[in-house]
Amino acid sequence: MNLAVIIVAAGSGKRFGSKKPKQFLLLNKKPMFVWSVMAFKKIKECCQIILVVSKEKIREMEKYKKMYGIDVVCGGKERFNSVKNGLNIVKDADFVAVHDAARPLITENIIKEILLSAEENGGAIAAAPAKDSIKLSINGKNLTKSLNRKNIWLAQTPQIFKKSMLDKAYSSKIPLTVTDDAQLVEKTGKKVSLVNSGYENFKVTEPLDFKLAEIILKKRNTKCL
Ligand code: C5P
Repeated sequence: MNLAVIIVAAGSGKRFGSKKPKQFLLLNKKPMFVWSVMAFKKIKECCQIILVVSKEKIREMEKYKKMYGIDVVCGGKERFNSVKNGLNIVKDADFVAVHDAARPLITENIIKEILLSAEENGGAIAAAPAKDSIKLSINGKNLTKSLNRKNIWLAQTPQIFKKSMLDKAYSSKIPLTVTDDAQLVEKTGKKVSLVNSGYENFKVTEPLDFKLAEIILKKRNTKCL
């Protein structure tokens, strides 16, 4: 069984507020995206790592191509377009993982668990059960409805699917609101399993997340090659 991973890193990271997109900032001495590359390098089934970056970053990535043996491709306007560009250069894989470069705390064990579940079910994603009470607000001011927390899971990445499933999901036109891959696969009627990946695999979105990621990585004492 062969796995290819598409690590999407072509976002501008506006919410983070730094000049350089956050996924290229040094996190414990390595650019943030490198932590995800290293996690996938530990997976023996992983035969291709594709990094998707904005066109401004393509040249800068030459050195990482050689250093880590990865492929680099140009991203698009939305995450959907970036994943699609990555999917276009997958060489030979039965399964494809999509992972956000903004989740540097992904571990080898979580990837293995999701891969196992994807092999059994066709598709599986990292997710964590909601801890807070969940409210729906249509206008962003007032509470429209309280939702049952028991049924709410927060989707993370990696999200791993049979390649044929992901190809089909991405053959659709870009939907108005799409923020992950499972949402597209779900539309094709295929089952997607949830793997509880806990709360450490958060997406670095704000400066506070960055600080927390630094502390956790230091605590793990992970050696990054
Ligand atoms: O914007 P959001 O937080 O959903 O982005 C998730 C991931 O998708 C990030 O790693 C970001 O760099 C990536 N992305 C991308 N191309 C875009 C937008 C986001 O690769 N056009």
